[in-house]
Amino acid sequence: MLTKMLFLDDSYLKECNAVVVSVKDQKYVVLDQTIFYPKGGGQPWDTGKIVKDNETYNVLYVGKFSGEISHEVDQAGLKEGDRVHCVVDWARRYKLMRSHTAAHLFASLLCVGTGALVTGNQLEEDYIRFDFNFENFDKEILDQYVDKANEFFSKDIPVKWYELPKEETMKIPGIVKMAEALPPDIPVLRIVEIEGVDRQADGGTHVHSLREVGRIELIKAENKGKNNKRIYFKIV
Ligand SMILES: [Zn+2]
Repeated sequence: MLTKMLFLDDSYLKECNAVVVSVKDQKYVVLDQTIFYPKGGGQPWDTGKIVKDNETYNVLYVGKFSGEISHEVDQAGLKEGDRVHCVVDWARRYKLMRSHTAAHLFASLLCVGTGALVTGNQLEEDYIRFDFNFENFDKEILDQYVDKANEFFSKDIPVKWYELPKEETMKIPGIVKMAEALPPDIPVLRIVEIEGVDRQADGGTHVHSLREVGRIELIKAENKGKNNKRIYFKIV
């Protein structure tokens, strides 16, 4: 990986300077460092802009290709060696951070409380989708967990992230709760911890306190089969 992923340490960075490392097909840009989160781990990519002098290149998509973070921009013009300024669409990103932390907390409560497993999870800008392996499933139970989650979101409980050796990580019960979080084959894993509540191996961006989430609301629940329940909720 050529690019330093600034969002891993500081998810609240809204702007940064960078140098263009390479440009492919005139619109796929690799930078020496970035604040743009690339699609992955159930979290959508960031949008925003890359500015060079007075020229603005809108960032349409960010993904990982051949192990590198590629920023797709809306026009040609950037070239290797350019010094640029990056600005993330903060409204979108912050909502995704709140959603991601909300998803971890909700999954943790439900999994610990019911023994369910998360089999799928996708954040979108307007909703959070979960698939659970969960037989006893009704709206009342879900509503209880939503209420319970909202109690947590009214408290200033810290969320922090740090690295741990994989060996040590895998001894933590429930560390891989989400299908998204299957640990890659690397010696050190990034842990996202909701203090006293949950620890997950995770590469996403999160808020610093549960209070920043606000509240969640159930949108709908679907029965997709005996052991497959899908629920949608949103942050409000
Ligand atoms: Zn996550």
